[in-house]
Amino acid sequence: MSAPAYDIAIIGAGPAGMAAAHEAVNVGLKVVIIDEQAAPGGQIYRDVERVAMERRHDLDVLGADYKYGYGLVDGLQASSVTHLAGHTVWQIERNGTVWCSDGKIAKQVDAKRVLLATGAMERPVPVPGWTLPGVMTAGAAQILMKSAGMIPDGPIAICGSGPLLLLIADQLVRAGAKIAVVAETTSFTDYLRAAPHLLRALKGADYLRKGIAMRRRLKTSGVRIVSGISDLRITGSDKAEGVSYRVGGSVKSFAAETVLLHQGVVPNTQATRQLRLEHIWHEQQHYWYPKTGQNGSTEAEAIYIAGDGAGINGARAAEAAGRLTALEIACSLGKISRADFDLKSPPWFSELDHHQSVRPLLDAMFPPPKEILNPPDDATLVCRCEEITAGDVRKAAKLGAPGPNQLKAFLRAGMGPCQGRMCGLTVTEVLAAAHGKSPADIGAYRIRPPLKPLSLAELADMETGDGDVTLASPSSGP
Ligand SMILES: Cc1cc2nc3c(=O)[nH]c(=O)nc-3n(C[C@H](O)[C@H](O)[C@H](O)COP(=O)(O)OP(=O)(O)OC[C@H]3O[C@@H](n4cnc5c(N)ncnc54)[C@H](O)[C@@H]3O)c2cc1C
Repeated sequence: MSAPAYDIAIIGAGPAGMAAAHEAVNVGLKVVIIDEQAAPGGQIYRDVERVAMERRHDLDVLGADYKYGYGLVDGLQASSVTHLAGHTVWQIERNGTVWCSDGKIAKQVDAKRVLLATGAMERPVPVPGWTLPGVMTAGAAQILMKSAGMIPDGPIAICGSGPLLLLIADQLVRAGAKIAVVAETTSFTDYLRAAPHLLRALKGADYLRKGIAMRRRLKTSGVRIVSGISDLRITGSDKAEGVSYRVGGSVKSFAAETVLLHQGVVPNTQATRQLRLEHIWHEQQHYWYPKTGQNGSTEAEAIYIAGDGAGINGARAAEAAGRLTALEIACSLGKISRADFDLKSPPWFSELDHHQSVRPLLDAMFPPPKEILNPPDDATLVCRCEEITAGDVRKAAKLGAPGPNQLKAFLRAGMGPCQGRMCGLTVTEVLAAAHGKSPADIGAYRIRPPLKPLSLAELADMETGDGDVTLASPSSGP
């Protein structure tokens, strides 16, 4: 068997992946970075290079934290890293083999180590009406701004909680969008719960200052911000026409052409699940994260994880974690000694500590509300691909479905094109409540390849072709 073409295959060109690639080539490792996006940047710095070159106004609208990503992207482009842009990874093996496709032909990439930097995704928000046209996640609206300079039709209702909710509202206002209301589920009780974490969070006071400034800017721009809402519903029959919610004992409603939902982000665990790595349940934030050891190592010798995919800590923490994990990998491959690691790592440990210091406060302040974790029996879809409601899941639980994997046989939940990304967390919560168990005991969908849809033609070309498996060549990318 020939030696793997690369020392490291990094999956995900967000802050964690780009920083890891930078650190790895600096110590002489041969690196390939694979990402389904056409350009590096990940979620936060999506398309930053193109926006900087072609749309200066949008760069200002998206703000200083977005601009910061340009340096990382530029560094990656100038390096010797092979960048397989527009390639979706659909299978990973524990020995370091990665299977991906550019949408035309599937490829096999062999590496001594795989670094998963696959980041986060927005938490699904199953409220009545969330499947109506005109409703999308706040992150999706931000993707439109970053990739196409577009803003949704107004008036817009932005509902949910978390720092990203305010950030996106702020960016939309600066881009000229008309906002009807920002309705937050965060209440006074949430602030009280978070108060004990304030002292530690002061280490990251820059984050607190940014949050306060964003809120102030929104208020000064005349945006109505309402806190402590519950019973959120999207009104309209064929499309979103507005929102209604309960606040302070009465029901309020607002007309809106577009409704943006957001309840924070959760680790994208599709790849770590497919690898059968152990996962831990985050009691406060209600999500799964993979168990990691020293500096992103896992129970599988060749597999490492860095960034939000290992637990939500934000972009700058992801960057520091990416660097530390790359150095740990270099150590494991004998490229640097442990003494070298100890020399190079302190600045990144201190960055990590700085950027993580605000996290306990945020986790306590922005818990996902119960009404989206365990939605009522009504027509609200939980699994959008297979059109299954929370009521259907409860009925199946009564009939004897003990967990998410058995539920597949009852309802096909989680077996549609999204492979359980959208419904996985809700199905776990609904089943846990139905059986009177904790989500940690109920478990999660078992994820099998392909991680994302793959056409038979893409596979067939790889398997037959000239008789060989198509290998990604280790030449420099674009
Ligand atoms: C929609 C959205 C918008 C966000 N916007 C902001 C923001 O404006 N400001 C902010 O501070 N934080 C934002 N966040 C949070 C922020 O993304 C993270 O804190 C940070 O980007 C984490 O960095 P990362 O490198 O771990 O992962 P990411 O930046 O998420 O990068 C992961 C990369 O992995 C790639 N990937 C995943 N799976 C595959 C696969 N199977 N095949 C190939 N490639 C794959 C993705 O395309 C992505 O480029 C956002 C999160 C989301 C979900």
